[in-house]
Amino acid sequence: MEPKPSIIVVSAHAADFIWRAGGAIALYADRGYRVRVICLSYGERGESARLWKQPDMTLEKVKDVRRDEAGRAAEILGADITFLDAGDYPLQPTQALMDILVKEYRECQPELVLTHAFKDPYNFDHPAAAEITLQGRVYAQARGYPATGEIIGAPPVFLFEPHQPEQCEFKVQVLLDITPVFDRKRKAMEVMAAQVHLIRYYVDLARRRGVQAKRNSGKVGSKQEVYAEAFQRVYPQVTTELM
Ligand SMILES: [Zn+2]
Repeated sequence: MEPKPSIIVVSAHAADFIWRAGGAIALYADRGYRVRVICLSYGERGESARLWKQPDMTLEKVKDVRRDEAGRAAEILGADITFLDAGDYPLQPTQALMDILVKEYRECQPELVLTHAFKDPYNFDHPAAAEITLQGRVYAQARGYPATGEIIGAPPVFLFEPHQPEQCEFKVQVLLDITPVFDRKRKAMEVMAAQVHLIRYYVDLARRRGVQAKRNSGKVGSKQEVYAEAFQRVYPQVTTELM
């Protein structure tokens, strides 16, 4: 039997993949892809404020909660997830981290890759994660890089929408219609109790991107509500058609 096609999603922190790409993940899982989410850290220092307000909180307890929440959210979306526990604030690239990532690329042979935007003046772990993701992809392509497994081809890389896209110089190039799986994205977001304030924001964002998806696909008259996620490409699209 042919192995399942796969995609890789690299998330700096435990919840980023849910807010920013939960729809894409659920869509591809439904289409029979293996979706491999790689959480570089738990976001234990920088994105767990609600947990830190509780008495007697420790770094280990925060990590446990975040691991549990992200694991449940990934299950709802249909993804499998791994936590590399590389630390946040700051997330620092190390040789060991790169070696694990290259191994993941070679094992998965992904058909596409999702990660963060290259700039984020609100959270420097996000661009760091993007850089690590792209470096890992390039090293996984190199026959001379010391890692097991077959080298990978050239999977396209899509950057997911940051929380404040204008400050991150994010450009909307792709609008992915996630309407059929939006309820699952919402359920996955609801699992992230440490950042519950973000749910409304990301529901509103999906609606707004949905309106733009309708406008850009010429379906502006359609009464159906559309939810969408925005992405930016890193490498040129190779195609034989301009339509
Ligand atoms: Zn984050």
